[in-house]
Amino acid sequence: MSNGVYNPFVNAQAQFDRVAEIIGLDQATRDLLRQPLREYHFLIPVKMDDGTTKVFRGFRVQHNDARGPAKGGIRFHPEETADTVRALAMWMTWKCAVVDIPLGGGKGGIICDPRNLSEKEQERLCRGWVRQIVRNLGPYLDVPAPDVMTSSKHMLWMLDEFETITGGHYPGFITGKPVGMGGSLGRTEATGYGVIYTVREALKDRGINIKDTTASIQGFGNVAQHAAKLFSQLGGTVIAVSCWDNVDKRAYTFRKKDGVDVDELRSITDVYGGITKDKARDLGYEVLDAMAWLEQDVDILIPAALENQITAENVNKISSQVKLIAEGANGPTTPDADEAIKHRRIFMIPDFLANAGGVTCSYFEQVQSNANYYWEKEEVLSKLDTKMTAAFHAVNDLAKRSSLYMRDAAYVIAINRVAQAVKMRGWV
Ligand code: GLU
Repeated sequence: MSNGVYNPFVNAQAQFDRVAEIIGLDQATRDLLRQPLREYHFLIPVKMDDGTTKVFRGFRVQHNDARGPAKGGIRFHPEETADTVRALAMWMTWKCAVVDIPLGGGKGGIICDPRNLSEKEQERLCRGWVRQIVRNLGPYLDVPAPDVMTSSKHMLWMLDEFETITGGHYPGFITGKPVGMGGSLGRTEATGYGVIYTVREALKDRGINIKDTTASIQGFGNVAQHAAKLFSQLGGTVIAVSCWDNVDKRAYTFRKKDGVDVDELRSITDVYGGITKDKARDLGYEVLDAMAWLEQDVDILIPAALENQITAENVNKISSQVKLIAEGANGPTTPDADEAIKHRRIFMIPDFLANAGGVTCSYFEQVQSNANYYWEKEEVLSKLDTKMTAAFHAVNDLAKRSSLYMRDAAYVIAINRVAQAVKMRGWV
């Protein structure tokens, strides 16, 4: 699960350029949208528990905010780079636009491995990140959220730091907060559930009963766990998940051919979505190679870990049984692998559509936080389902009507909306 040799920002720009050509976008709008509007790079000195000081590198990229405040998560990852954050910020702009919520795109990151940091060190790191960027964030400016290896706990430390500095209560400053502390019910489930809402619609559209389908999932963090849970609840069978083993410091695929028991597997999963192989073996799982998840004879593949996982080197290992790929992660497929998938006519639900449930629920959380009035879980999830279902069908209909690959159709809708916003504002 490394970033390999691929640069996700080059990938994101290539995807944009291709669709800009398809829709005949004018040069100024292309120049404005193919790179971030603003970006911040900074250092975060942190007092470690042993008395030493360690200096971390942090980022916040605001790709575009023509449709509303920039919105997007903060990742903690040892292999984070300015370019991964740039790509992810750009994908956030398209994600918010494709589900038609009034937000722009941003992303943050810190180069670190939280698995090797204590709670207190993580808290100081979160507070340090906010201190460096505080003037450029805010409920009506740029609103962060959780992402890879960050959770509600980190969001609350960040909120507390922001409120301490600004001297007021601004729960709409950040989303993904704990429920009862400004968080929204349903936010934890939202991204994974959203992936499955789109899978459900895609299967329905093809006349396939979800109860007859099997899936293999890469990752077992928040997105993958909730995708697996809802998919199983709807009657589908997850036969494999792949994730990190923090004892062996490598990933494995854990397989149970008659179906993974999601709750049982969650009971041996750490907070970062890691599972140690011995515990999985004790529960009767076969322990296979890290990338074995991709080679399973299943109907559906759900990459829900990191970017650049399905590549030119491994795309041919995808079984001929696979009918559908739903990208739970951001940027899991490299452009050359994407070409091969398009060629094989595997139905693709692209990342910024499939995983838009997280930010859609973040939008609901922000609305609730700004109003200081909180909704019931059923209301949140039903609004989420409505948004995701509508977005899926808008993209699917365009793809059919114009014979476009699903990723391109999603881009056409998203880029057109953002292009219209920058024009209406008089930026171009
Ligand atoms: N990090 C999530 C994403 O990539 C959610 C962002 C948000 O809620 O703002 O979509």
